[in-house]
Parts: sequence; C-alpha cells; structure tokens
Amino acid sequence: MPRKLILSVVISLIVLDLTSCRVPPATAAKEPNKPAVEVFYLANEGFFITGGGKKVLVDALFREGIKPYAVVSPTNKERLEQARDPFSDVDLTMASHFHSDHFDPLAVATHLHHNPRALFVSTNQAFDKFKAVGALFEEVKTRVRAAMPNEGERIKLTHNGIHLQVLHVHHGRNRPIENLGLLFEIAGQKLFHIGDSEATAEDFKINNLLAERIDIAFLPFWYLLDEGNKQAVRAQIKARHIILMHIPPPDENDEYIKKRGGWATVLGKMKAEFPNTVWFRQEMEKKVFN
Ligand SMILES: [Zn+2]
Ligand SMILES: [Zn+2]
Repeated sequence: MPRKLILSVVISLIVLDLTSCRVPPATAAKEPNKPAVEVFYLANEGFFITGGGKKVLVDALFREGIKPYAVVSPTNKERLEQARDPFSDVDLTMASHFHSDHFDPLAVATHLHHNPRALFVSTNQAFDKFKAVGALFEEVKTRVRAAMPNEGERIKLTHNGIHLQVLHVHHGRNRPIENLGLLFEIAGQKLFHIGDSEATAEDFKINNLLAERIDIAFLPFWYLLDEGNKQAVRAQIKARHIILMHIPPPDENDEYIKKRGGWATVLGKMKAEFPNTVWFRQEMEKKVFN
C-alpha cells in the first residue's frame, strides 16, 4: 500500500474513531470539559450508564419487548439479570414505565436478587406488576420504590451517592399510563430520561427544567419530528446533548416515516436541525460525553 494511502487510511480511522465514540460538548467554547459519562446502548430506550465510579441502568431490564422495537440479545439479557460483568455492582436501576419494551418484573427481580447493592425505582403501575411475581418480590421488595409525583412536583431520593429526581411526564395526556421523567446526576453531569413521554412544551414548562442545565437528554425520536415537540426541546429542555431513542429498525415499513422520505432522511434532517443529537445502532455501542 503506498505511504500516502496508508496515511490517509490512518487519518480516516482516527477521524472515524473520534466521531463514533467521543461526543464533543456542544458548547465547548463556553464550558470546560466535565468528567466523562459513558453511555452504552442496550435496546430501545434501555441504557447502561457509567461515570464517577457509579453505574446506572435505565429501561434496560426487560424481556419480550414490543415489535418492532429492539430487544436485548440473550447474552446481554443474561448478564444484566445475573448482574454479571459489566453489569455487576450497578448502583441504581430505573424504569420509566411498565410497558414491556421498558420493563419486566422478573428481569428486575432477578437482577436485584443477584445485586444487593441496587435500588429499583419506577411507577406505581410497575410496582403492582412487580408484586405479582410472588416470592422473588418478597425477597427484594425493600429495594423497590414506587414514585409517581403530581405534575409539576418532584420526588427526590439519593442512593449510593446518586441524586435522583422523579418527575411526572405523561405518556399521552388522556392515556392512563404512568410515565416518569428521570433526572439524575452522574459524574457531575445531569441526565434526563423521559421514557415514552408525550408531554408538550407547556407540560414541561411547569417543571422549570431550564434551571437544571441538563447535560444529556434521552428523548424518544418523536421529539425531533414535529414542530410542537421540537419547540419543547429547544425552549424547555435545552440539553447540551440529545440522545435519540425508541427508533424502530431502519427497514421498518412505517407509513408515517415513509411519507417523510424514510429513516435515513428523517434522521439526517433531525441531525441538521439539532447538531447536538446522537443515536446508537449497535447493542453495547458506547458514546462518551464530557
Ligand atoms: Zn415504549
Ligand atoms: Zn410506553
């Protein structure tokens, strides 16, 4: 291989590595780098997050899922539930709501059984499903918290040094599905995961999120799709970084997305409008946020 070509391959590999793994802060000129938060994608809205010596799971302990959305592979599902490396000693586990593409009571109970360190936080509806697992629930129930604040209110708790605030963000104004906004701190950064929220800019406003100066917002893709939701992201969430989630497989034959030119086009437009947005393609793909 000619030297020039080798050099250009090396350079492109370096560039590839930087763009695929490390996410530069959107406001690098104004703010110094923060201690790193590492985000690993599991499936759908499920993530494994580490930083500052802490480990967190959000919407990661589920089983069957809902088609067509991604589920965790059998290998990692087993590692997660058995609390085996890298998912050993997880400090805090959370589920935004009880839907089976986010939560499975036996998966959570099995993880808690193998990991006495972890606390699990979710909604009352998830808690009710949890109770139904019987003996395993009885064993771990002291480490299960149901939290469902009223709109505009927050429930705060700290576990293993991680500060968590639980917010009420609805999953469709007229649907009886409890859904949480999970606002927590890892390595000095503020992370906000909103589950399957359909809350509007007005709904978010009462939570005064701007005062939080959110570093990383985990948003379902529909927040970057229509004008009202985009306004909520720009005016009420205003995160340094956006992680898109709940993205169906790219070949999914979705009329709504097809009308907009297909997934590649839709994601390209989202990135053009919100350059601080990233998304994941592979299970256990990692992105580092400073
Ligand atoms: Zn969902
Ligand atoms: Zn849902």
